[in-house]
Amino acid sequence: MNLPAPLAVYRRLLKTFGPQGWWPVTPPRGVRPRYVPGSDGRLSERQRLEVCVGAILTQNTNWGNVEKALSRLHGDGIRDLRDFQGLRRARLEGLIRSSGYYRQKAIKLMEFVRHLSRRGGRVGDWLGSDLPALRSELLGLHGIGPETADSILLYAAHRPAFVIDAYTLRIGARLGWWRRADYERAQTYIARRVPRDASLYNEMHALFVALAKKHCRKLPLCPGCPLKEVCRHGHSR
Ligand code: SF4
Repeated sequence: MNLPAPLAVYRRLLKTFGPQGWWPVTPPRGVRPRYVPGSDGRLSERQRLEVCVGAILTQNTNWGNVEKALSRLHGDGIRDLRDFQGLRRARLEGLIRSSGYYRQKAIKLMEFVRHLSRRGGRVGDWLGSDLPALRSELLGLHGIGPETADSILLYAAHRPAFVIDAYTLRIGARLGWWRRADYERAQTYIARRVPRDASLYNEMHALFVALAKKHCRKLPLCPGCPLKEVCRHGHSR
């Protein structure tokens, strides 16, 4: 069978699941992050910083644990860069404890905050320049790997950096897009086949996550999956 085109897969997923409203951010007077379909990357500077913090905290844990940590930070009035700059590491560790690996994550966050301060202090301004150079710069920071760097670029700054995660790798392998693709290969595969558009990248990645949670689990639930007709793995079952 022919391989399904990434754009065709995207359209099927969007039709089935609808817009996902990523990345969840805390509204101005709220205390918890919320998904807002249709917001299309329009964020305040505070929300951009929250996305960066969430992208670091979500490493090796589920989003529910990150939400708790973000709510604690908000509850304690830690919202702006200046608030983070004034935090002692022990207090930060306590506030983000629910996200796991909190000692390492506190160090990563503090380094990120220091770097952001050196680069002018505003996520929106810093992340608006040359994309490949920014990506290299982010990857040079302690504890920032490709998934975190691209999540920050795409979801905090609305830049066209496609995010690959374990879900995307699993779905792509089952669809036949790659066998054991690594991050960069998978990213290149998709980037070559869909328009370079941050809104599209945003929604597409979010839809892959929705599919992985609802159907394309470790043990896939192929009956009822919107990709069953076009999926190699689904066909073979
Ligand atoms: S048909 Fe099965 S293997 Fe293919 S994408 Fe759907 S759940 Fe995953």
